Amino acid sequence: MSTLASVSSFPFDTVSELSADVRSRFYIDGRWMAPDAAGSVDVVAPSSGQLFATAALASASDIDRAVDAARRAFDTGPWPNMSGAERAACMKRMSAALASRMGLLSRLWTAEVGAPVWFSNQFAPTAVAMLDYYAELASTFAFEERRKTRAGHARIVRHPVGVAALIAPWNAQLPILSYKLGAALAAGCTVVVKAPPETPFDALVVAECAHEAGLPPGVLNVITADAQGGAHLVGKREVDKVSFTGSTATGKLIAKTCADRLTRVTLELGGKSAAVVLDDAVLEPTLAALAPFTMPFSGQICFAQTRILVPRQRERAFVDAYSAIANGLTVGDPWDVTTQIGPVASRRQLERVLEYIETGRREGARVTAGGGRHDQRGEGFFVQPTVFAGVTPDMTIAREEIFGPVVSIIAYDDVEQAIAIANDTDFGLSGTVFTADAEVGYAVARRIKSGNVSVNGLEMAPNVPFGGFKQSGVGREGGPEGLCAFLEEQAIYLAVDAGLQAG
Ligand code: NAD
Repeated sequence: MSTLASVSSFPFDTVSELSADVRSRFYIDGRWMAPDAAGSVDVVAPSSGQLFATAALASASDIDRAVDAARRAFDTGPWPNMSGAERAACMKRMSAALASRMGLLSRLWTAEVGAPVWFSNQFAPTAVAMLDYYAELASTFAFEERRKTRAGHARIVRHPVGVAALIAPWNAQLPILSYKLGAALAAGCTVVVKAPPETPFDALVVAECAHEAGLPPGVLNVITADAQGGAHLVGKREVDKVSFTGSTATGKLIAKTCADRLTRVTLELGGKSAAVVLDDAVLEPTLAALAPFTMPFSGQICFAQTRILVPRQRERAFVDAYSAIANGLTVGDPWDVTTQIGPVASRRQLERVLEYIETGRREGARVTAGGGRHDQRGEGFFVQPTVFAGVTPDMTIAREEIFGPVVSIIAYDDVEQAIAIANDTDFGLSGTVFTADAEVGYAVARRIKSGNVSVNGLEMAPNVPFGGFKQSGVGREGGPEGLCAFLEEQAIYLAVDAGLQAG
């Protein structure tokens, strides 16, 4: 494994690339506004543990201003009443502006939360693809439809739901925001984006793109706020829809607040996804296809395949081969192009992950790779890629979301037991099946109670819905399903034979 040669200066360089507005203001009502109070948040580079930026943190009154602007823009502004094609034209200008800043946005992902450059360079551009997809959908979607009825016909009108609060976590701020923002804007909603304090700048760069694209004032408002600010936003009566991605615990709190006024809500929450390796799967190609999705971005991705289920008679071979892969990963400075695994995002994450590793040991699982803090210079938040074998489904590490580079290998006796173990979880976000027979793979995938299951790999496409069964969420993002989450259907019956027409 590699060690850190020195503390990188790149986080500081990246901040100096940001405009003064992005560094210290919020985007409200089409303008850059100074925060009302002097709230601020320190941003720490996970690779060094050092402070590299300070960002503005919203007070309740900043949030109120953002919500008021969105409310005004929805009630009296042009955006909700434009045609889908008109909105699409503006969104396409926005996605072009986003594409032109892709280098900066990728670097921000690495600077703020330590995503290795190979990872941020590959996945940041998915935000452009998502905005483009929703722009395209806005221009073709049937916002009105006519159906024949007994007395005449009905028109089904799909209205934008109203003011939407968009809340995303720190781990993949830009792609997650693009799902929400693309669908909300395509629908004709106005939005308040609450950026998390760990990644305060990305959404503000998106606001710059919206401004450049000529999005009408108040349609997009961006503030950075902590949990308290998020709760304040969700509780506002002017908010008609909440679209939240984050932990299951926070999702439950938000659902309770939304229940009071029956505010529409979409929840994208945690996961504990299983990779089911069937007996006919050939070891090496299976591992080549599976391994990249077990600890992506140090395991801090909601769909990480953190439970690997293998046939008991092949357990030994599988544990040896996968542990060798984990041990061979290059851990180090996220700015180094050869680094495969960077730090975890924060000291809080570091402590949480190390505690889970200790719990795994205490409960009797066997460490076959890693197993602790990565030995390197400086104060970076590095965890060794860690593999546990001999894990049973009742162990804490097999049940709770760790959100770190920690994977459990669980042996099964037959395919029925494998499916039962895969489903023996409160979560249901993702899953994979590996097999030589694609038809068998499909049949097994259908029986896994997860919103997204892939056979012999893992894919997420903009036109396909993503979301969770059980405690992994409510509702879907992506595809037309994601657009419908920002629409409210109204049926208007038109009776042709009522005899009311003049003459
Ligand atoms: P978190 O729930 O702590 O925070 C998520 C966001 O909610 C942040 O912006 C935070 O400031 C805000 N927030 C916190 N408390 C709030 C409250 N009471 N009201 C309103 N907003 C509040 O989650 P996290 O630790 O930042 O993110 C990691 C979690 O996100 C993991 O569980 C991961 O699985 C999940 N996640 C899910 C998906 C998905 O698509 N299903 C994608 C990425 C991450």
